[in-house]
Amino acid sequence: MLTAGIILSLSIFVYFFATESTSKSFFHRLEVRANIVGHAALEKNKSQTSVYYDIKEKHLGDLPNEQHQIIRNEDVTRIRNLRKEFPMPETFYDQIRNNETAYFFKNDTSYVGRKISQKGESFLIISSAVDLYGLEEMTNLKNLLFVGFLIAMVFVFTVGKLFSKQIFLPIRQIIRNVKGINAHNLNQRLVVDGSKDEIADLSTTFNAMLDRLEITFEIQNNFVSNASHEFKTPLTIISGEAQLGLSVNNITGVARDSFQTVLRESEKLEHLINSMLSLAQTGFDGKKEQWGQLRIDELILSVKATVDQRIPANQVAINFDNLPEDEHKLIVNGNETLLKAAFSNIVLNSCKYSDNKPVEVTITADQTYVIIEISDNGIGIPDREIAQIFVPFFRASNTTKYKGYGIGLPLTNNIIRMHQGNIVVNTRVGSGSKFIVYLPYENKSF
Ligand code: ADP
Repeated sequence: MLTAGIILSLSIFVYFFATESTSKSFFHRLEVRANIVGHAALEKNKSQTSVYYDIKEKHLGDLPNEQHQIIRNEDVTRIRNLRKEFPMPETFYDQIRNNETAYFFKNDTSYVGRKISQKGESFLIISSAVDLYGLEEMTNLKNLLFVGFLIAMVFVFTVGKLFSKQIFLPIRQIIRNVKGINAHNLNQRLVVDGSKDEIADLSTTFNAMLDRLEITFEIQNNFVSNASHEFKTPLTIISGEAQLGLSVNNITGVARDSFQTVLRESEKLEHLINSMLSLAQTGFDGKKEQWGQLRIDELILSVKATVDQRIPANQVAINFDNLPEDEHKLIVNGNETLLKAAFSNIVLNSCKYSDNKPVEVTITADQTYVIIEISDNGIGIPDREIAQIFVPFFRASNTTKYKGYGIGLPLTNNIIRMHQGNIVVNTRVGSGSKFIVYLPYENKSF
């Protein structure tokens, strides 16, 4: 728009001044002829008159539609008629009266008027002609400027596009690289070429920020895993001691109950600590673990076996009806232990939060993902809390009567994200929830 504005203003400027100069030069040519004709009219000597006309004919020639009105100054009636006939304003005649040359242009016709006096006699001469060549030239110039404007616009647009593409290339590269960096590959850095421009500055700033992020992540991760390890040793001792107490022959019923409670609670604590440790590990660098190709249908079957073991009364049914025909759409590159933990968490939750009502697991596939849907008829999740279920230690407000720590889903989410997949939750309080997990089956990046 800016360039269009500039080119347009320039074209108008050129056109305006070209018109001005063409009309000036035409007025001048007309004035010269008016002078000659005027003097010829004043000449008493007829042979001299023809000399004037000869010169005009030979050296100047006629202008298109050239006309001259010569009026004796005293001929008031003719002047009055002339005023009616010609389109000139009053100022035109005022200028002539003041012995100035008057110029006027209307309807493609140029008019020049002046007074010529000689030996007490004076004439008013008004000459008119049409500058056919000038008008044609101006029309040509107008067309030329218009076509030039269009060509310039196309040129500016194309070159501008290419140029901006070129200019933003490094920025697009930075965006692409930054998008590829996440919690799992925080050690990656942007490439900084030797240049000293803003782009290099931007990359260096990003890299410095990544350094800080990596350190913070590492500190947090180390803290969680160290703390978890530290908790584990005394916990093993506590449960060992409780087991020892239980194995003593003649302990009282109260002491037995007490040892059993200690044992149960320390087992729960151990489970919690293990989950925290996994969460910390998956949150930072899950690729430490073993990765390989695994079939999702088999994985789901082994998840079902685990659930059967943990909750014998479960009603989990696996629906294989929509299994993709192409077996290769069931194969995922990933870590079996982690994926099993992820799906177990979802299925166990479904059983837990539906009080063991039927839970259905279906496996399908689309162009990119193998899709695992786990639906239950449980308590559902309140709308405004859905966004938080993947936040560590968050538990929805309707779960008070169910045991839990709020670690399972954040861990599951981390695991699925590590596998380049994602989880979608559809839920309604009182009707149930559906967890849909998408895992890419053709991801070559592992
Ligand atoms: P918890 O140990 O509390 O089950 P999770 O991290 O596994 O922790 O789940 C987080 C929260 O998400 C749960 O407290 C619960 O509010 C909600 N949630 C997860 N699965 C379901 C489900 N199937 N039905 C209803 N709520 C669920």
